[in-house]
Amino acid sequence: MSRDIAHFIGIPSNDAIHEITKRIDQKWQNIWNEISLNIKLEEIKRTTKKWHSNVTLTRRQDVFLTRTRIGHSYLTHAHVLNHEPQPICPTCNKPVTTKHIFTECTKYNNERLIFKFPNNIQNIIKENNEESILKYIKLLNLYSLI
Ligand SMILES: [Zn+2]
Repeated sequence: MSRDIAHFIGIPSNDAIHEITKRIDQKWQNIWNEISLNIKLEEIKRTTKKWHSNVTLTRRQDVFLTRTRIGHSYLTHAHVLNHEPQPICPTCNKPVTTKHIFTECTKYNNERLIFKFPNNIQNIIKENNEESILKYIKLLNLYSLI
């Protein structure tokens, strides 16, 4: 809504913009609530609100975190582009996924203990946990593969 229209209908433009933004956000959240139950992203993030970080990230780190959070990285999905079978963890004999790397893989049990990661991926890949996520993946020497 332009400021002219808001002024014309007698509502201060900042109030109109705030209300419209609030309604759009709520509509987006409602759509997300409906569709996210059927996709794996709901497991990572239940709201449409922007991720906040308590650290300043480089562009590369930001890309890494986004890929990690949506579970689509070179490590886990290069096979799609290369028309190859999904990679299987040689230690656990399970598909290599972000969730597997962060919560399940027995090869990384000790590393997860160092960072005191819970078994729930949502509580690991949450906002304000970016430093631990980055350090964990670097410790595993997987950073360049994400
Ligand atoms: Zn494994």
